[in-house]
Amino acid sequence: MSKINLKDFSYDELEDYIVSIGEPRFRAGQIYKWLYSKVSDFDEMTNISKALREKLRENCIINSMIIQKRFVSGLDGTRRYLLKLDDGNFIESVLMKYHHGYSICVSSQVGCAMGCRFCASTINGKVRNLTPGEIIDQVITVERDLGERISNIVMMGVGEPLDNFDNVVAFIKNVNDPRGLNIGQRHITVSTCGIVDRIYELADMKLQITLAVSLHASDDEARSKIMPVNRKYGISKLLDACRYYTDKTGRRLTFEYTLIKGVNDSERESEDLAKLLRGMLCHVNLIPVNNVDGTGFAPSGDKSVKTFLNILNLNGISATVRREMGSDISAACGQLRSQL
Ligand code: SAH
Repeated sequence: MSKINLKDFSYDELEDYIVSIGEPRFRAGQIYKWLYSKVSDFDEMTNISKALREKLRENCIINSMIIQKRFVSGLDGTRRYLLKLDDGNFIESVLMKYHHGYSICVSSQVGCAMGCRFCASTINGKVRNLTPGEIIDQVITVERDLGERISNIVMMGVGEPLDNFDNVVAFIKNVNDPRGLNIGQRHITVSTCGIVDRIYELADMKLQITLAVSLHASDDEARSKIMPVNRKYGISKLLDACRYYTDKTGRRLTFEYTLIKGVNDSERESEDLAKLLRGMLCHVNLIPVNNVDGTGFAPSGDKSVKTFLNILNLNGISATVRREMGSDISAACGQLRSQL
């Protein structure tokens, strides 16, 4: 039987587990504190008896991954981590430094089932979901390597977070716990390709996270060609869900729009996009598509990007071009594919 990753438990679940192995409830509080003060071995839990430490060691693990390789960008200091999981699978996380602090981009699955045509992460399909503890361990592993605190989390690594809904929600709640990592919901962004049913479900939870929606086209025909998910949930259903989300949570949405030369970057498409988003509480991030071998896609030229942006702005849509980081180490959006 595989061992339990103690970071898969919320505080309350850890209490239940500790009681279930015949220990007093208050021990859970001590252990929870140790887990998130980043001990790497049970022996470092000095206020716990040796017998309990042994019992935990037999049945549980503290860390679910090791750093297989670290790549550091010569351009901007961005770091890409290749992490090896307990079962031998690999995942990636990317650390970026901004003026307001460190931000980590974490993976939610091993591989991805969504099939977006411009993205490397989906080329070999989905292998499995990550557990809540494996998502949290990315933050902790990188924080420890860095020796500094990470203040923001974006779920924009490998995988579709809303295709691993329960584990992602458990992760958010746990990372939020003031007794643990204590990273506020407003410092967490979840990015989705648009799984409409799950957007409604998430909205009803009224979390204070930022939801980012990967739109990438302004009509169904163009979107279905590059994002298979659009054949199930078309643009108008997706935007209905987005409006519901902002109504329920009061949170401004982010739309991601990757600009691909000759595919979705014409003036007409920018005008259509402005019409679609009119009146919505949102911001648009434009991202000239990053290179992924084999896709045949090229980024829009500077002039098209500027024109596209201007049209949105002139129509009253808040939009900016996203500064890509770590492109020299394959750490930019869409380039993560868990290879050595
Ligand atoms: N599955 C989620 C999160 C992962 S991708 C989602 O689809 O949102 C994070 C963002 O990078 C998404 O907006 C995705 O569409 C975008 N992306 C993927 N490949 C890209 C590429 N080659 N260039 C630029 N952005 C890309």
